[in-house]
Amino acid sequence: MATPPLVDNRVAELLPSKLTLAQRQLFDCHLCPHHCGDRRAEARGVCRVGQTSYIASEMLHLGEEALLRPAHAIFFSGCTATCHFCTAAKFAFHPTYGVAVTPQQLAARILQRQQAGARSLCFIGGDPTPHIPFILATLSAVGEQRQIPTVFNSNFYVSVLALELLDGAIDIYLPDLKFGPGDCGEQIGGMPDYWQVVTNVIDQLYVQGKTLLVRHLLMPGHFDCCTVPVLHWLAQRPTLQVSLLTQYLAPAHARGGLAQPLVQAEIDQAYTLAQQLQLNLVH
Ligand code: SF4
Repeated sequence: MATPPLVDNRVAELLPSKLTLAQRQLFDCHLCPHHCGDRRAEARGVCRVGQTSYIASEMLHLGEEALLRPAHAIFFSGCTATCHFCTAAKFAFHPTYGVAVTPQQLAARILQRQQAGARSLCFIGGDPTPHIPFILATLSAVGEQRQIPTVFNSNFYVSVLALELLDGAIDIYLPDLKFGPGDCGEQIGGMPDYWQVVTNVIDQLYVQGKTLLVRHLLMPGHFDCCTVPVLHWLAQRPTLQVSLLTQYLAPAHARGGLAQPLVQAEIDQAYTLAQQLQLNLVH
């Protein structure tokens, strides 16, 4: 997987009709299954993102998969999940961390990074879902000067509405299928019905033939409850590209088993299973 897919040129024609619907979410938000509604207007939704998007950082990032790097990574503040082991807590749980810029200002930076050699434009967080209105406005401002694919790098705890808004604007979908079908998604990540929501979303995109790269973060003590069912589920969709993330680092505020380091034996166990299941692994 060395060549990024072509940029979806429908973005220019599709965006005007979507911008209005996206902007409405700033007052009555249904971008994710939390369905916070009018709490969004006063930044009282689960993600506590208000009507202004804050960017924690942006950079040319060399740590992404080969398909994407160097990526122009844009890290938005705020997240729809509440994972207590989050290593990005300083901006994921502080939605006004960083700087607020206009879509036109970010568009100018995107074109600079493209000129400097970025091969993809990655929207990350926190989680980018609350920022879909801002992302669409930014892509509208970039217009047809964009030559690199857009990437939506998210927990994919998103609503059908969010998927519809993203369609035509995003070229590569990067879901992080982190938790298994048990209660880890709700207990650890604060996302009710996690498994059903996220696997349904991935399946929808898979059936539509979208370019998908599914990541799975290996977490200490979560091999049986999360890694095993996730890898088996992925194996039933053989053309999916899969990336195993092995860089788990327990932050000081992590609790219980997730305060432990991920050990090499757990990584080996996951790779052995992935190979047995003949997953299409990418690095
Ligand atoms: S993005 Fe999700 S969590 Fe945030 S305000 Fe909207 S519905 Fe609530």
